[in-house]
Formats: sequence, structure tokens, C-alpha cells
Amino acid sequence: MDDITPNPPATVADALGQARTLGLARIDAQLLLLHVLGRATTDRAWLLAHDTDVLAPDASDLYQALCLRRAAGEPVAYLTGHKEFYGLSLQVDARVLDPRPDTETLVDWALELITHLPAPRVLDLGTGSGAIALALKHQCPAARVLAVDASADALAVAQANAHRLALPVQCAQANWLQGVEGRFDAIVSNPPYIAAADPHLAALTHEPLQALASGADGLDDIRTIVVQSPNHLVPGGWLLLEHGHDQADAVCELLRAGGFSEVQSRMDLAGIARCSGGQWPTVK
Ligand code: GLN
Repeated sequence: MDDITPNPPATVADALGQARTLGLARIDAQLLLLHVLGRATTDRAWLLAHDTDVLAPDASDLYQALCLRRAAGEPVAYLTGHKEFYGLSLQVDARVLDPRPDTETLVDWALELITHLPAPRVLDLGTGSGAIALALKHQCPAARVLAVDASADALAVAQANAHRLALPVQCAQANWLQGVEGRFDAIVSNPPYIAAADPHLAALTHEPLQALASGADGLDDIRTIVVQSPNHLVPGGWLLLEHGHDQADAVCELLRAGGFSEVQSRMDLAGIARCSGGQWPTVK
């Protein structure tokens, strides 16, 4: 027999141990097991207290299958169908980018800029699952948020999340700002920014390429957004962009060349300059 798949795990402790031998991170194994057991992601302590509990055969088989898919690179969020982002539980699948905690930096920054405004108009470009748009609406209910994406598939996910979370965010299909009407107090985006030949892309084959890669230097979409945004910002409005770990200088340069002032960057949780933005001047 060539089959090297081990027997499905018998107990909670076996299950977590087996995942370790497959090379899975402990947190990933815990989230997959909680998902299979129908328990909340906040129930990790429950697993510790129940390590000798015997797993039902169906649960054990399913857990093992999910671990093997995780070991082959599928994001945990696609396997469980949801991801926590800025305190919201979002439904996600392979139609959208798996929201990253790095992107919470962009939300923090946008909130600093809009919360003092009575009814800020905010535009999220390339919304994907709706993560940024929905987090902003949740934290700042007075905001009028428009979420756009070029992908109808992605918009369906964003719309379903908005509906399920009862967060009234408007969704529209558009290619960046083409066809978008009106002016905004803040335009925010986590666009694709990986260089087409970046070897890092090989590890991300389960996510939509159009949400990840952007031309030879990864900056094609950011260039487009920087050029298109001024016509859609109120005087004093801000454009905030997430970008790659080594792109802050290039993005700041694009913003300055595009006429933005107050150009600056913000660090993500790992201390990497992950977002850059600028203000459209009041008097030009
Ligand atoms: N931060 C993601 C990664 O490098 C990419 C997200 C994006 O391109 N917007 O894995």
C-alpha cells in the first residue's frame, strides 16, 4: 500500500498533534478543529480543556481532509468560510482575497481622518470581501461608504457580508474610479501590488491573481488610483493606499508627483511601512 495518510485522529489532542506533523501552525489546526466541531473561533481554551475528548468519525475525517488542504496552501479562511477582521466576522471564499491583519492599519488611519466629520463620504476601491468598507461603517456609522470592485464575484461576497452584518454600505461595480461619481472625504484601497514575477506569488495560488498582481513592479494599479483620485476628493480629502513591504518610498513619490500634500506612511503590526497616503490640498 502506498497510502501514507495516517489514520484519522481519535481525540482532540491527537488531532492537534497530527496537524503539527503535517507542518501546520498550531493556530491553523485549532481554527480548523473548532470549525469542524461547530464551535466559535474564540473557543480555543475549550480545546485545551477537552484534549482527551473522542472525535466522532465524521468530524475526524473532515478535519483531516481540511488539514491536508491547508498543508497544500489553501488559506484557513477559505476552509472555514470566515475570517475575523477588525472585530467583524466576514464570510470569505476563493472569489476574494483573504483579508490580512496588516490591512487593519489602513482602517485605523482612515478612522482617524473621518470620525470627527459629521457625515464623511468614504470610497473603498477594490473592496473584495468588503473588509475595509464594512469595518469603517461599523466603527463610524455616520459615514456614507461606497465599496467598488471590478469583479462581480467579489461584489457578491461584499454585498452578502454587508447584508448579513446589517451594515448599510453601497456596492458598485467599477474599474477603479472609472464611472464613479461624486467626491469623497477619504478614498482607501488595498489594491493588488505584487510584482508579476515575484516568487511570493507562487505561495498564493489559491487567491484571485487579479487581487494580488499588478504589472512589472507591482505598482500599475496604484499609479492608476493616484492619477484618478484627485477628481474624486473634496479639497482636504485623503487618499490612503496599502502597498508592499518595500514600496513605501515609491508610493510616496507617486503621491507627491500627483500633487498630494502631507504625504506619509504608516506601519503595520509587524513594523513594516505598509500604507502611504496624502491629502488633496485645499488650495491648488
Ligand atoms: N499583502 C498580501 C501579500 O503580500 C497581498 C495583498 C495585496 O496584493 N493587496 O500576501
